[in-house]
Amino acid sequence: MENTREKYEVVIGLEVHAQMLTKTKAYSNDVNEFGSHPNTNVSVVSLGHPGTLPVMNKQTIENAIKLGLACHSNIASNQYFARKNYFYPDLPKGYQITQDKTPICTGGYLVVKDDQGKYKNVGITRIHMEEDAGKSIHDVDVFDTLVDLNRAGVPLLEIVSEPDIRSSQEAYNYVTEVRKLVRYLDICDGNMEEGSLRCDANISVRLIGAKEFGTKVEVKNMNSIRNVQRAIEFEISRQIEVLENGGEVSQETRGFDALKGVTVSMRSKEAANDYRYFPEPDLQPLFVDQPQIEAVKKEMPALPRELYLKYTEEFGLSEYDATNLVDNKYIALYFEEILKETPHIKTAANLLMGEVKGYLNKNAIEISEFPVNASNIAKLVNLTADGLVSYSGATQSVFPELIKNPESNPISIAKALNVIQESDEGSISNYVKQVIESNPTEVQRYIAGEKQLVGFLMGQLMKVSQGKADPKQANPMLRKMLDELS
Ligand code: ADP
Ligand code: MG
Repeated sequence: MENTREKYEVVIGLEVHAQMLTKTKAYSNDVNEFGSHPNTNVSVVSLGHPGTLPVMNKQTIENAIKLGLACHSNIASNQYFARKNYFYPDLPKGYQITQDKTPICTGGYLVVKDDQGKYKNVGITRIHMEEDAGKSIHDVDVFDTLVDLNRAGVPLLEIVSEPDIRSSQEAYNYVTEVRKLVRYLDICDGNMEEGSLRCDANISVRLIGAKEFGTKVEVKNMNSIRNVQRAIEFEISRQIEVLENGGEVSQETRGFDALKGVTVSMRSKEAANDYRYFPEPDLQPLFVDQPQIEAVKKEMPALPRELYLKYTEEFGLSEYDATNLVDNKYIALYFEEILKETPHIKTAANLLMGEVKGYLNKNAIEISEFPVNASNIAKLVNLTADGLVSYSGATQSVFPELIKNPESNPISIAKALNVIQESDEGSISNYVKQVIESNPTEVQRYIAGEKQLVGFLMGQLMKVSQGKADPKQANPMLRKMLDELS
């Protein structure tokens, strides 16, 4: 099978739907909130009563512009809305208001790691605004399907990628990147389990070297990024098997069964919907001008890709450190706060990724719940980077005490704990003399050529000084004195 698989190239394009974090719905002032009691966030507009009129939510437009700018897309100046018609119990109006021919954003790209860990651009075809349908619930009542219309009319952005993705891992990385981006932009909470970020995957395979793409299959219903990857993996194997057996892949929509790890046919192309798109007569065309785009640009937060480049290229941090730092927006912002008060970037990154993140993980909390503010962590960073306290003294002694007393100054804590390193030459040379006197055998062996014994003697020195000697200073002094004896 592995050999067979290598004959094929995988082609994937993803359609991601992101529910906007707006106060109200896309075209009405119904509350947009997840988890409310069913059918409470509904008015005559959400219910599609005749005679009601939609009103455009400005926030959605701004969100779309933000996302478009972040993806280097073109923002269209003239747009109109369209009706996408179909019949379903959770769609009271009988149509969704969407953007068909004039999406707000076109073109652009996202930088994503391929499955070899190399960065590449995945093209963005379009980003458009639309509204969600209600939710049909099939598994609560034994006999009937229940309908919750709280979601009907919630604003969505749909982000359609070019068929540029070449493996399930790359698809995983792409969705992770989209989720990170909408979270940084504060336009969507990115929660796939609750359905506020959803992904449909279009998958095809072709023989390597073939000119045309193979027939694509669209897979829906994945409720985690891991499941997007699993569904794609299954689909790749299934399609290759069909082709290897002399068959043809049929164009269809399939659903993913997460328990069994398989995709199942939902509807074929012949049964595909004809949505009868036509212009929405109840909404005015939308004009976006340059000043409006500039205004949104000014409000854009730092984006993960920019921070990543700053950390690696400007600060010289490793790819690994930079990736970890920007992975979570609030960790990155905390890091930025620390850096306002210390020049010691690498020590700050180590302390944040090591001690602070360790503490967050152990207690299963977010950085927003971390008791110590960035300014006090910066003081701790300075304390150790300036050599006043050893790194282990800072992390193992001062840090736990700082957690207990988050307002205390780390210097006071270090003094109280007696872990300030001695750096004056006099006291360190006393420790050196003391160690040489009390370990004559090892000193003789060092002189006779066992140079590695300097490690043992340094250990003794740290013991004698009760950990307070700065090893960076003590080590060369010890070597010098030993070499003078030789
Ligand atoms: P449809 O008209 O069926 O909705 P689109 O052309 O709008 O198809 O594309 C939908 C998604 O499918 C896009 O993300 C696109 O990149 C992707 N796509 C298109 N053709 C293929 C293909 N042959 N294999 C994989 N993905 C594809
Ligand atoms: Mg489409």
